[in-house]
Amino acid sequence: MATKTPITVAHGDGIGPEIMAATLHILESAGAQLDIETIEIGEKVYLSGNSSGIAQSSIDSLRRTKVFLKAPITTPQGGGFKSLNVTTRKMLGLYANIRPCVSYHPYVDTKHPVMDVVIVRENEEDLYAGIEYQLSADVTQSLKLITRRGTERIVRYAFEYAKANGRKKVTCFTKDNIMKISDGLFHKVFDELGKQYPEIEQEHWIVDIGAAKLADTPEIFDVIVMPNLYGDILSDVAAQIAGSVGLAGSSNVGMEYAMFEAIHGSAPRRAGQNLANPSGLLLGGVMMLAHIGQPEIAARVHNAWLKTLEDGVHTYDIFQEGVSKTKVGTKEFAQAVVDRLGQMPEKLKAVEYKALPKLPEPAYPHYDKIEQSGVDIFVNYEGDANELGQKIEKLGTDKLKLVFISNRGTKVYPGGGADVVKADQWRCRFEGDRTQITPRDILALYTSFVDGGFNIIKSEGLFYYDDQRGYSLGQGQ
Ligand code: NAD
Repeated sequence: MATKTPITVAHGDGIGPEIMAATLHILESAGAQLDIETIEIGEKVYLSGNSSGIAQSSIDSLRRTKVFLKAPITTPQGGGFKSLNVTTRKMLGLYANIRPCVSYHPYVDTKHPVMDVVIVRENEEDLYAGIEYQLSADVTQSLKLITRRGTERIVRYAFEYAKANGRKKVTCFTKDNIMKISDGLFHKVFDELGKQYPEIEQEHWIVDIGAAKLADTPEIFDVIVMPNLYGDILSDVAAQIAGSVGLAGSSNVGMEYAMFEAIHGSAPRRAGQNLANPSGLLLGGVMMLAHIGQPEIAARVHNAWLKTLEDGVHTYDIFQEGVSKTKVGTKEFAQAVVDRLGQMPEKLKAVEYKALPKLPEPAYPHYDKIEQSGVDIFVNYEGDANELGQKIEKLGTDKLKLVFISNRGTKVYPGGGADVVKADQWRCRFEGDRTQITPRDILALYTSFVDGGFNIIKSEGLFYYDDQRGYSLGQGQ
């Protein structure tokens, strides 16, 4: 008798309890070995005064089992409620979001009959770090963070996923023609790690044309890995054009923890009527079985589910006159899948699952020589660029001289940029001999700004890493 794997289950809100009951019925009938701890999350918890929607005792359960099967929840209207998804993702370090987007033509209506794309989205970094500022009356800013280690984790996950699941190609989307340092790092790590997977075809697309191709000819893609923001948007696009928003499951995986769910919400208007399609959560549950080392059961469930679709046993949301045969409710659909356990699809492609190996924690990157060559000081000022430039020029010290002033990234001093529309925040770049500059020289420059009557909004150090410049030039420099 196989040992049971402890998992934490939340039945959620709206249609959540019905689709979770259906999912667990199918998984257990298929022979999944699960030791279930049930927790309460979502609307009731929020409304009881817990702004995160999850109690400490539930978090303790997640820490124990490390595996979370989660039904959708309803986020109450009004402010002050923190997103439970963001909370769990951050708390559990779930760095990878995996979303298979598959079309099931001709059984489910789709614009793209041949589509089988897996979006692997980085889940913790990028603009989602939530580091935002209002810097002046005019200017706001969100920081886009891309780390080498975070990128190594997600890119390795994408390649290992492809390898374990018999996928042929991994594509990377970035915008590194513009964001040469942050997206440039993502692309570079993709190329570096890709060398360890010579059996897998690899390509990189700039995200704009890549997105257009994905929406137009998704059949040319297989696994696509990308930073958080592009992944957020394009995983929705991919699920939508597959025609399977109600059918798609998703996993959020970390080094230690993992969470599995449907991609849709709690559909409150459908709740309690035995109408909802449990397929999205079921496929989330299937990904969970592969993750916890029960890949044969995962495939058994998935193939029975494909056979059910083929047999035209459909819930209302995918029912089509002339294609579907029997319109069923949530419970009947679940029973139809159970009745087909052990059967394989005849027209749709059967699936096979393999568990991924435990992936290594990336090492901290190392440089032999890191030198500061200067500093960008941002000041608040309303007025003429030349006037400001002449004042700022005088603030330079023996070691640090003004190189340029830019406004919204474009050089406006010395000489030029007069035509650009200017914001009230100006970036003043000072550089010097990087073998000579010490932190005290930077401090002396700050002092000279303060003595000159300027308000420093923020500053960024300018560094060289093993003789490579670690910052972008000014536009027009
Ligand atoms: P939704 O996904 O709940 O519903 C969108 C549409 O799809 C509705 O017409 C609904 O009836 C239909 N639908 C969704 N799932 C279905 C299913 N399994 N079977 C049949 N029909 C289905 O999105 P929404 O209406 O924007 O959001 C409702 C609530 O869900 C909100 O409170 C939102 O915050 C929450 N939500 C939760 C999650 C989550 O917990 N992961 C994700 C998205 C939205």
